[in-house]
Amino acid sequence: MKLQNVILATESSDARWDLEVSDSVLQTKEATNADRGAPSSILLPPLCHPHIHLDKPYILTCNHAPSDRHPDYTDLAPQSGSFGEALASTSKAKERYTAEDLYLRGSQLLATSYQQGVTSMRAFVELDHVTGTLPLQAAIRLKQDFSHLVQVQICAFAQDPVFSTGHGEENRSTIEKALRDFDCSIDVLGSTPYVEQSEQDSVKNIDWAIRTAIEHGAHLDFHLDYNLDSSAGFLVEPVIRLLGEHQWTRRVDKSKTIVIGHCTHLTTLPSRKMLDMASSIRQQKLPLHFVGLPTSDLFMMGRPTEKQTTPHARPEAPFRQCIYTVRDWRSPAAGLLGGGLYQAGTVDDAELLFSCVSSRAREAIGLSNVGYEDLLKEGSEWRPLLLIENIKRMSVRPKPGYPDFEIPARQRVSIKDVVWDPPEVSLRSVVG
Ligand SMILES: [Zn+2]
Repeated sequence: MKLQNVILATESSDARWDLEVSDSVLQTKEATNADRGAPSSILLPPLCHPHIHLDKPYILTCNHAPSDRHPDYTDLAPQSGSFGEALASTSKAKERYTAEDLYLRGSQLLATSYQQGVTSMRAFVELDHVTGTLPLQAAIRLKQDFSHLVQVQICAFAQDPVFSTGHGEENRSTIEKALRDFDCSIDVLGSTPYVEQSEQDSVKNIDWAIRTAIEHGAHLDFHLDYNLDSSAGFLVEPVIRLLGEHQWTRRVDKSKTIVIGHCTHLTTLPSRKMLDMASSIRQQKLPLHFVGLPTSDLFMMGRPTEKQTTPHARPEAPFRQCIYTVRDWRSPAAGLLGGGLYQAGTVDDAELLFSCVSSRAREAIGLSNVGYEDLLKEGSEWRPLLLIENIKRMSVRPKPGYPDFEIPARQRVSIKDVVWDPPEVSLRSVVG
């Protein structure tokens, strides 16, 4: 494989390079021979989805005639748009899952993600008394079928209560059995402590998840503190305490990480409490990461209830510890959204935002991370990278009777250009 006239993010954006790869090794890296006027491409680390639900995509937009194999979900379109309604509709949707439906929607998600430059992801699949292991079995097939394109980590996920309600015990035993029966295929245990009916059960859920993840040597992933209610309990605290009590760092392989997703409650914390939490995580050397999902989190934050006193709290503090997920970044305006949302307007911020959907996201979910700089040394083993192409001119419709109307296209030559103006999907591809 030859890549000509590329810009490398770690080198000057004036420099252009020709790379030659054979036998999966970068054989040569030389100053380009290409015409200086030709549009260059920029080569970046590939994207990583640290949080995506493999059984959920396209439920409301799958748009095909209902059949035994492919259910219709259109009646589940939101009416009130509330979080409670979303949870109730999700439960109804799960009752309709079929193997063919899960595989089709999952494969559409994986193919689309790959085309957008994603080469790794953590895929959540719900396991409970309704779904049984159906979503897990679809995920295992998808993981195998896409293994040459995307590295998929499967997260066995308890979206529903595992202690409260009449189904708690059954939900818990469904997950525990799946962890035993499909041990080799499951990488992560995920749970949602806030869905339990009391704070006491939420803490039991956290305790169970930590013990079970340790027992199976799995990564751990919580959906947690997804509210802006400053009077609600802050469940990150028992997570940190119980990880210590169960001696996570001593009993689990160093490569295994703990992720806390959403956690919008962080924005209600005073700085002092944030600093105390950060120092407690550092003191225990916990491999703990926060993953923000800006579009869904903003949706929640924009819906104050009577109890919420800070409905539009400023999400400033979490930014530097957070991963910003690629699902939210991929739409053209979302890079700018990140800049505005996190008041992140400098070039360094742009680079940090990009790392949140690439190298930092990989690190958060415990995937090996070869430094981009090391990867681009002659003799290094080649790993897939993201190529952003530039076009020379943009063509638009001319006035009637006028010749072609062409405008010189702006060139993306650095990470800030890619983050502040994400390219269309057709201008990105994974190479290698
Ligand atoms: Zn989620």
